[in-house]
Amino acid sequence: MSTRTNPLGRTTRKHYYEDYWLKRHAATVVQVKQGAVELDGTIAFPEGGGQEGDIGTLTTQDGAVLHFCDTKKHYGTPLFLSNFPTINVDTVVYHLIDEGDQPLLASLAPGDPVVVEIDVTRRARLTLSHTASHLVYMAIEQVRPDAIPNIRGCHIKEDSARFDFGVADRFQAEELEQIGAIASRLVERDLPIQVYPHPEEPEALYWECDGVVIPCGGTHLTETGAVGPLELRRRNMGKGIERILIAFPNPSLDLARYHE
Ligand SMILES: [Zn+2]
Repeated sequence: MSTRTNPLGRTTRKHYYEDYWLKRHAATVVQVKQGAVELDGTIAFPEGGGQEGDIGTLTTQDGAVLHFCDTKKHYGTPLFLSNFPTINVDTVVYHLIDEGDQPLLASLAPGDPVVVEIDVTRRARLTLSHTASHLVYMAIEQVRPDAIPNIRGCHIKEDSARFDFGVADRFQAEELEQIGAIASRLVERDLPIQVYPHPEEPEALYWECDGVVIPCGGTHLTETGAVGPLELRRRNMGKGIERILIAFPNPSLDLARYHE
């Protein structure tokens, strides 16, 4: 574990980096805030790198169930590493509680044990979506290398993903077709995917597939095949922004892989 500190002097242990396939885990309440709960550790993946945060439940010892509708990181300290983009580490994770369950927060205090459970169907979909986005990114790198340094954002959702590029030249229909063909081939080959940390920092993670390495702290499949057929579209957003939309209408979700 890291010995660095953020302004709060404490961090949330990231069980999701120790095991991506945890669906339920015990934790202890550290702080109850307005509408949010901080725990000593969590399996819920917070919003980051374009991937939406997990949703799920916190169950108290008395059996009260608090639904959380998002998970967010705060108070990180920027870390500068060689060969790696700047990331925030040693963050504190907040579970944002559904409005209807917020009255239950009054009965929750620091030191209380809870059980965290995530919505695994949503997580599995986000994991697959994130992996699909990397395969399309790899294909864009081959067909439109000029777009890669001009990436303006990405959004990983349950049923789709998208990239925005600040490029002067629009993506042509034949380029989009080529990108789709290359990415689909990566899916069809059912290639293994490796995720491993930077030698100096456990929270700085690399994603590797077919010899391509991408710094990324998201959640990912271990093989490409489950993504299934890909559908790509493009849209000009104005102001020189080209959007690539990625859909995967027939994914195979491996829910059985998630465990306690
Ligand atoms: Zn990623």
